[in-house]
Amino acid sequence: MRNVVIVGSGCAGNTAAIYAARAGLRPLVVIGHEPGGQLSITTEVDNFPGFPEGVQGPQLVENMKQQAVRFGAEYLAGLVEQADLSQRPFRLRIEEQWIETRTLIVAAGASARWLGLPHEQQLIGHGVSSCATCDGFFYKGKKIMVIGGGDTAMEEANFLTRFGQTVTIVHRRDEFRASKFMLERSRNNPKIRFLLNAVVEDVYDVERGVVTGVLLKNVKTGEQWRQEVDGLFLAIGHVPNTRPFVGQLDLDPEGYIISHGGARTSVLGVFHAGDVQDRVYRQAITAAGAGCMAAIEAERFLEAEGH
Ligand code: NAP
Repeated sequence: MRNVVIVGSGCAGNTAAIYAARAGLRPLVVIGHEPGGQLSITTEVDNFPGFPEGVQGPQLVENMKQQAVRFGAEYLAGLVEQADLSQRPFRLRIEEQWIETRTLIVAAGASARWLGLPHEQQLIGHGVSSCATCDGFFYKGKKIMVIGGGDTAMEEANFLTRFGQTVTIVHRRDEFRASKFMLERSRNNPKIRFLLNAVVEDVYDVERGVVTGVLLKNVKTGEQWRQEVDGLFLAIGHVPNTRPFVGQLDLDPEGYIISHGGARTSVLGVFHAGDVQDRVYRQAITAAGAGCMAAIEAERFLEAEGH
């Protein structure tokens, strides 16, 4: 029987692990399908306090994990396949085994969203990607397209100019969610072009097993045209990883956990942390703060229950 199981090993999960471990609760962290969460697939992080020169995302998250391990946190590779939160102790099925826990912190984050194009899924890993850091290297001297108008699209486009001959940002509007700073940086990068009020309708060429181009549409005029491209990088947001908790925790229509104040969910003893609940701020530092809150609440809950 565990005191605390933390689902997710990103900023939120690792920070919850540091606090819970330091409180002597020996938390178990279920690593999930993306070890280290979204920071593990990013590059330079400039805005995490305490690093005046910036820090690499994977390094930052690995540091957090080491800090949690130093206080006795344990990490388990695997995914939560099923959860039973109908009574305490809660039960989680992870890689064929059931684990029981008195409290649960859901810090499972959110995963990249796909466009849903007819041939998109067949070309993932063959020119279609949601991770510039992972795949950018393969596009040296190539024509790259980035979809999206948020900070991620700007960051990925800038990063990809290290490799690509050109990087075209395709955005469905002519206004941006991206912060002014990130947008200006992209605008000032001579390798980056913008294609606005445009959407991708399909990607080719499944027969050749590699991306050779896309079908584009101008949303204002309806005009369609094909454009040659070697890499299609999607940066169109994320969907929360709450599937095992559907029907057990209160979720909003998009699947984000609905907070019941502080780090509390609709189930007593189950807490949320990070992007699995936060659809507004979604920063490394806010996720870390949320992980801290969840661990403190779990600790107080256990104490009140006499554990
Ligand atoms: P986001 O801000 O939600 O932006 C998603 C973008 O994708 C939007 O421009 C959206 O267009 C577009 N989009 C969504 N669905 C689409 C579809 N089906 N077809 C075409 N376009 C679609 O997501 P994000 O850029 O991943 O950023 C998430 C959070 O992380 C933000 O809070 C951001 O500030 C933060 N972040 C920060 C940094 C940094 O500070 N270094 C870096 C990366 C991310 P519309 O605008 O038309 O909806």
